[in-house]
Amino acid sequence: MSSVQLASPYREGLRWFKGNLHTHTTRSDGAREPEEVVRDYQARGYDFLAITDHDILVEPEPYQHNTTMTLIPGVEVTANGPHLLHINTSERVPPHRDRQDVLDEIAEQKNSFAVLNHPNWLAPLPGLHYTHSNMRELSRYAGIEIYNGVIERLPGTALATDQWDQLLSNDMRLWGYGHDDSHLAGDVELAWNMVQAPESSASELVDSLREGRFYVSTGIYIQSIAVSERTIRVITSNATRIRFISRWGVIQDTLDSQAAEFTVPEDPDEASILGYIRVECYGGGSAMAWSQPLWIETGN
Ligand SMILES: [Zn+2]
Ligand SMILES: [Zn+2]
Repeated sequence: MSSVQLASPYREGLRWFKGNLHTHTTRSDGAREPEEVVRDYQARGYDFLAITDHDILVEPEPYQHNTTMTLIPGVEVTANGPHLLHINTSERVPPHRDRQDVLDEIAEQKNSFAVLNHPNWLAPLPGLHYTHSNMRELSRYAGIEIYNGVIERLPGTALATDQWDQLLSNDMRLWGYGHDDSHLAGDVELAWNMVQAPESSASELVDSLREGRFYVSTGIYIQSIAVSERTIRVITSNATRIRFISRWGVIQDTLDSQAAEFTVPEDPDEASILGYIRVECYGGGSAMAWSQPLWIETGN
């Protein structure tokens, strides 16, 4: 007898922590000193922050004593090719021209992970920073930025869920991340990750960020995403519309509500066509939230 199951990265009974993993300071091309950047995110109620200057690792220790946020060390690999984040490292890897070499060296650092940045930035003009085939050829990265705030004021689009759906639909299990990529004071709190973890230590946050226990927000807060058999139930604080999206970006259902549920078909053939379900939440202004994909698994 065949069965249909949903593989969710989310867990019950954990807390949510807010954070940004892509931040610049005067150590590269950011406008503000690290102290000022840390103070700004702290004042906005963030729980964690990674300073990720271009090809420079800014050690968090000197700034950690002035903040209750968890500072996660990171770097934006920049020279010689498209940009990517190397998160949670005390040793940066050389920016090899072959980005697979960079990703392999990051993967060999036990507690680090890599994220491909701003795929829909038109740089160098007029091309995409990463095309779909660029990203399909690469492996050993945790995910891509599905929202990069600084691209709001640069050529291209901040949102990259179009590229994400194509990768997911080609069976690449990648998480979607949301970051400010802040360079100027006005670039802060545009997009962030809400992470489920038992506590806000760097190791717990990094585990959750590698395993998909988070969603991306530009202003909508999800209280819970729970799975019961074939049904996904989402409860938000402030959404006015919730959509359930499947393989190739197809909208399966739209509900004008703060909470909503979706049930995957019982028939394994019908269910497997959907591939995965991810949730998009909409609210006032440009406030949104994006869940990670919940994979539909059919077996005998
Ligand atoms: Zn970049
Ligand atoms: Zn950047």
